[in-house]
Amino acid sequence: MSPDPQLKPLRPADADRYPRSGRAAGQEATLVRVGAAVFGGQRLVVAAGPCAVEPSGSLLATAAAVRDAGATLLRAGAYKPRTSPYDFQGLGREGLALLAEARDATGLPVVTEVLDPRDVEAVAAVADMLQIGSRSVQNVPLLREVGRSGKPVLLKRGMMTTVHEWLSAAEYVLSAGGRDLVLCERGIRTFEDATRNTLDLNTVVLLKQRTHLPVIVDPSHACGDANLVAALCRAAVAAGADGLLVEVHVDPLLALSDGDQSLDPAAFRAAMTACRAVAAAVGREI
Ligand code: PEP
Ligand code: MN
Repeated sequence: MSPDPQLKPLRPADADRYPRSGRAAGQEATLVRVGAAVFGGQRLVVAAGPCAVEPSGSLLATAAAVRDAGATLLRAGAYKPRTSPYDFQGLGREGLALLAEARDATGLPVVTEVLDPRDVEAVAAVADMLQIGSRSVQNVPLLREVGRSGKPVLLKRGMMTTVHEWLSAAEYVLSAGGRDLVLCERGIRTFEDATRNTLDLNTVVLLKQRTHLPVIVDPSHACGDANLVAALCRAAVAAGADGLLVEVHVDPLLALSDGDQSLDPAAFRAAMTACRAVAAAVGREI
């Protein structure tokens, strides 16, 4: 996509602070390719799937459902950064094998989280894109290790990170050798506790002006409530996001993590249909 005509040049201080992620006046947006999915172009990328790869074997059914509804990336966690150590922690290596199986069955490339620098090699051997989760955004050894892996990186915003801290995390990945990086706004913690987090669309618009990197939105973790997700997807598309990350489960009531915010396949399909109309209104496609 061409630069926004409203784009203001980076302030000199920003050009120094963000030499790899900052967007100079007139600079084209960067495209990040993950299999057939291309972030940053006219067509939005939708990454969808269950929060976690689960032992129930439901991943294949969810993966097929999200592909049929228009998702172009499968997203599910084998390593889960849960708040409590007593909650389901993910299937680890076994989960990676199930992700590889789901990719083979559906043809969808896979994005999955890596939590520990010691696991980067094993996760990178399976994943098409590595996710750095909210809780890891300032884990410097991890950022460097995923940068060195050469894999495309999906860098979530920390729930408490400022734009400066987030872009500095991107600089750690890019200065360690990473070339392909996508930013993902997933809500920040504010005084408001009626929703899980607060979706910060200001920052999506700001980052589209200040960086050349693709920016996507995860409404699922931003609100924590399946009833709000579809409307926030539409808002994100209208605001100029380059894609969406949506949690979908074949049976959200049975999900081992984040069931409250997971859409079932029918709701996901309806959300995608509504997003297509909004995308068309802003000159994009899904
Ligand atoms: C996730 O993507 O499942 C996740 C744990 O998200 P976040 O890091 O944004 O909390
Ligand atoms: Mn989740």
